[in-house]
Amino acid sequence: MVALADAAGKPVPHRRRIMAGMRPTGKLHVGHLLGALRTFIALSEEGECFYEVADLHALTTKFDRGAEIAADVREMVLDWLAAGLDPQRCTIYLQSRIPEISELAIILSMLTPLSWLERVPTYKEQIEILGPHLATHGFLGYPVLQTVDIAIMRGERVPVGQDQLPHLELSREIIRRFNHFYGPVLVEPEPMLSQTPLVPGTDGRKMSKSYDNSILLAESEEETRAKVTTMFTDPAKIHKTDPGHPETCPVFFFQRAFNPSAADEIAQRCRTGRLGCVEDKADMARHLNAALAPLRERRAALAAQPRLVEEVLAEGTRRARTVAAQTLADVRAAMGM
Ligand code: SF4
Repeated sequence: MVALADAAGKPVPHRRRIMAGMRPTGKLHVGHLLGALRTFIALSEEGECFYEVADLHALTTKFDRGAEIAADVREMVLDWLAAGLDPQRCTIYLQSRIPEISELAIILSMLTPLSWLERVPTYKEQIEILGPHLATHGFLGYPVLQTVDIAIMRGERVPVGQDQLPHLELSREIIRRFNHFYGPVLVEPEPMLSQTPLVPGTDGRKMSKSYDNSILLAESEEETRAKVTTMFTDPAKIHKTDPGHPETCPVFFFQRAFNPSAADEIAQRCRTGRLGCVEDKADMARHLNAALAPLRERRAALAAQPRLVEEVLAEGTRRARTVAAQTLADVRAAMGM
C-alpha cells in the first residue's frame, strides 16, 4: 500500500476502508435507525466508508416488481440523509449502476462450491418463511453477490451483528479461494462486531416490515402515537397497581433508548405498581416523537428537492465505480483474461 503524506510530507494515517450495504425496502423504521444507520453515521467519521444501496439484492424477493425497487431506493436514501449520513464524508452508491459488480459476481460464482451456499443457515429458513418461489439461482447465490459487494470496493472492515458473522466468514472463504488460485488480489475483510440492539416492534417481535410491526421514521406524530397506543406490554401487568417487568416490555425498550435519563425511575414505578401502561405509552410516544422531530423535518426538506437523491447516487456511484473498475482490472489481469 502506498504511504500517504500531507502537503508538509508528514505521514497521514491510513483510514481503513469500511464497506456496508442495505437492501432497499422503502421507508426505514426505528429499528434501522438504532441498528445499522447510527453505526453507518458513526463510522463515516473514522473510516473511508462505502455505503451501497443494494438494489440487485432486492431483486431476490422482488424479481417480478422491479419498478417498486426504484421507489424504495429513493425513500431509503432520503432516510439515510435525513438521519445524518453525509455524502461528503462517505460514498453512497447504487449497486445496479456498477456493472463491474455483476461481472465479478459471475467470476466468483464459478469458483464457489455449491455446498458452501447450500449450508448457509438462512437459505432454507428464508425459503420456508417466504415460500418456495424464492428458490432461485439468484437467491442461492446471494452470498456470492454479497462477497463481491465487499471485495470489489476492497472493503477492509465490515460492520456486522453477531448473527451475520457466518455470512462474512463465507465471504472470507470465497475470497481466500480466489486468492489461492490467482494470488493475493482481493482483500480479506475483517468483521467489526457492532452491538446492534434487537429492536422490538409493536407486537414485541423483532421490528420488521414483514411482520407489519414497524414504526417508520417518516411517520407523522399522530401515526406514531396511534401505533404506540396498540403496543404490546408486559402481559402480567393488567392494572396499574400490578407489578410489571420493564426489562421484557417493548415500551420500556423505547423509554431507555429515547428517554434514558428517566429510565430508572420509570422501571421502578412500573415494578412497584405506581405507573400504568396507558400513561407510560403516552410518555414514551412523546419522547420518541421529540427525538424523531428533527429527522422528520430534515426529511421533508430533502424530499422537496426532487433531484437530490438521484444526484447523491450519481456522484457516489461515479466514485465507487472507479474503485470497482480497478479491482476488476486487477482480477482479470491476475486470471490472465
Ligand atoms: S408500565 Fe410501562 S414498562 Fe411497565 S409494563 Fe406498562 S408499558 Fe411496560
